[in-house]
Amino acid sequence: MNADEPEDPQRQGLRERLETILITTEKATSWHEEAGHLRALVNHEGYVPIRTRLAIEDLEFLAGARTELLRFSELGLRLLDLHQPRDAGGITSDAAHPILRCRSCMWRWPCPTFRAMSESFGREAAEGP
Ligand SMILES: [Zn+2]
Repeated sequence: MNADEPEDPQRQGLRERLETILITTEKATSWHEEAGHLRALVNHEGYVPIRTRLAIEDLEFLAGARTELLRFSELGLRLLDLHQPRDAGGITSDAAHPILRCRSCMWRWPCPTFRAMSESFGREAAEGP
């Protein structure tokens, strides 16, 4: 890509939207440890009544978290469907390990998109970065 070319406005808008989600999420309080403690207090009806103080950053995060996480999950599943290996065909000296290419972007498998997804979501993230 030529650095002098103006950025595609649709791509620019998408980048800004994703950066906003990233910043909003980073500012919010992590509930990872608190959720661990609260899990032990769930009552027989399946609830745990809590009183808590939420900062404005936490409310900003919570307001959109469910929708955004659903979108991210759907995006991930769509990308996973798009980027999958297929036999590249042709003659290879190693019939047991044929050369595979991504059927969407045609990079050698695992393709950069799959590798990026795998680096982000491929492990069980207890708390994340
Ligand atoms: Zn691919």
